[in-house]
Amino acid sequence: MCGIVGYVGHQQAAPILLEGLSRLEYRGYDSAGIALVTAAGDLFIEKRAGKIAVLREALTEGTPASTAGLGHTRWATHGRPNDLNAHPHIDCTGELTVIHNGIIENFIELRAELEAAGHVFASETDTEAIAHLVEEAYEGDISEAVRKALQRAHGAYALAVIHKGEPDRVVGAKMNVPLIVGRGSDEAFLASDVAAV
Ligand code: GLU
Repeated sequence: MCGIVGYVGHQQAAPILLEGLSRLEYRGYDSAGIALVTAAGDLFIEKRAGKIAVLREALTEGTPASTAGLGHTRWATHGRPNDLNAHPHIDCTGELTVIHNGIIENFIELRAELEAAGHVFASETDTEAIAHLVEEAYEGDISEAVRKALQRAHGAYALAVIHKGEPDRVVGAKMNVPLIVGRGSDEAFLASDVAAV
């Protein structure tokens, strides 16, 4: 089980997320990525197989201003450790994105059902099924949509979701693995363990 960090507040999110991921490095991982809701209201995603240093290098090309986002380190269980399978994963609309540690045990059934309903998968991961389930459930409230989507998912997991239309929200969920919330004044953190915050 690798690492999840989330941030929403008044500071620039990207440096905080990268620092959080570095502090979770000891847990081991094969890929790393971040997602930001930009000041312009778009989703920005950068993800890479390999070390956090590779991700950091990719981000030197330019990281948009953002005060909310997610960071992830992956230890592959479903799908090869490559850039495509690295998290975050998006839905068909590109409006929401998901990071996840753990396993969605019924993902084969979920994927078949979602593909039959017209969803197009970009990766080999179990995680991506969650992105499409949340997309199906979304009616303007990302927290409600995640709650509803996870009624369909079985397994042990921690995950976090953001939607570009709700830039001041980072939603976390967990089942049988740790995920902690840190609250400051005017800001909040989400992490796999206290080392990250
Ligand atoms: N099962 C997911 C994957 O293979 C998450 C693995 C993890 O815990 O990092 O992408």
